[in-house]
Amino acid sequence: MKEHLKDFAKLGEQTKAVHAGEFPDPVTGASSPNLVMSTTFVVGADTGFSVEGMGEDDPFVYTRWGNPTIRQLEEKLAVLEDAETAVAFASGMSAATALLLHTLKAGDRAVISDVAYAAVAEATNELFPSLGVAITKVDTSDPEALEAAVKPGVKLVYIETPCNPLLRLTDIEAAAEIAHKAGACLAVDSTFATPIATKPLGFGADYVIHSLTKYIGGHGDALGGVLLGRAADLVPLRKRTSIRLGGTLSPFNAWLVMRGLATLPLRMKAHEENALKVARYLETNPQVKRVIYPGLPSHPQHDLAKRQMRNFSGMVSFQTAKGKETARHLAEKLRIIHYAVSLGHHRSLIFYLHTEELLDSSFKFATQRQLDSWKTFAGDGIFRLSVGLEDAEDLIADLEQALI
Ligand SMILES: *Cc1c(COP(=O)(O)O)cnc(C)c1O
Repeated sequence: MKEHLKDFAKLGEQTKAVHAGEFPDPVTGASSPNLVMSTTFVVGADTGFSVEGMGEDDPFVYTRWGNPTIRQLEEKLAVLEDAETAVAFASGMSAATALLLHTLKAGDRAVISDVAYAAVAEATNELFPSLGVAITKVDTSDPEALEAAVKPGVKLVYIETPCNPLLRLTDIEAAAEIAHKAGACLAVDSTFATPIATKPLGFGADYVIHSLTKYIGGHGDALGGVLLGRAADLVPLRKRTSIRLGGTLSPFNAWLVMRGLATLPLRMKAHEENALKVARYLETNPQVKRVIYPGLPSHPQHDLAKRQMRNFSGMVSFQTAKGKETARHLAEKLRIIHYAVSLGHHRSLIFYLHTEELLDSSFKFATQRQLDSWKTFAGDGIFRLSVGLEDAEDLIADLEQALI
């Protein structure tokens, strides 16, 4: 971690969220961070024209290379994740693909969670194999299956915990041990957990990925993504697959995400409290067949959740007997909860994911055991509910009148 950020390590999480990466403006004394929209910066005549020789702390040159507002967000994120450094991107997918392109080349093999964010699943079904990268999809929540798949020669193991949309967990410590024994790196998409619930680097992961669009931004108004990890990995990655490929975060979005991030610890407490109330209510609703929430003893991996998550987050999923029909009712009748994709916002969101459709488009299972695991969590289809920050009683009443 950079020298000037080290003092933050001793402070509480909410203090880090408010102050890390921020400082009063040295010229005007402005207390809140400036938004620097300039794409170019006035530099000295000895400034190089290629990013090749650029140092991490060199003066700003061009916003795709680095920008003061983006830098402030990256520093806040690195402090909260206990990471040496962070590289921000235009979206979570831009972060994920930059990582895959940096760590893999033709002839390499990667092991990817068989259920991951749909765009990660689809890119690793098609694009990466077309570039000559071999991909093995495996249920990473099953340590035996993971161990069998991660053979010497595998360069990257990519997991997501809890995974979208199943809320199935993967044991990060066990996955790190398996990956490292084979000489591979471990990357963890920790979007659902956030740094408030889980710090994957502390469990042995090499890279952490977040979609900033979700809990970290928290207000549904800015796309963004980030990669966190060791400087030795991310300094070259920034040049090769961020600056040169160009998936740069806009400074305005960096500013919005930073403003959202300042309240992340407080919001996550409230998301968890609300999600637990809503999940307990759903367990009593006769229309609901099954509720999945890592904070409920009925979650098949509740013990792992208690070990690995300091906060159970705000995502709840549930099944009903008449999935698609229920989806139509909810889309028509919900008054407070929005029937919409995405998650982690202050507003509650719900969306139905139909098993047959997803198995056609995104998730290709090679074994019966993989399919059985999907069915255990999702049955024929699953409602993904992102419990927001409204009053839990109002959310429960909204669900009660719409779940018919
Ligand atoms: C949304 C999401 C992503 C992709 O992030 P974008 O910002 O939409 O590109 C990746 N992983 C998970 C778990 C997500 O929920």
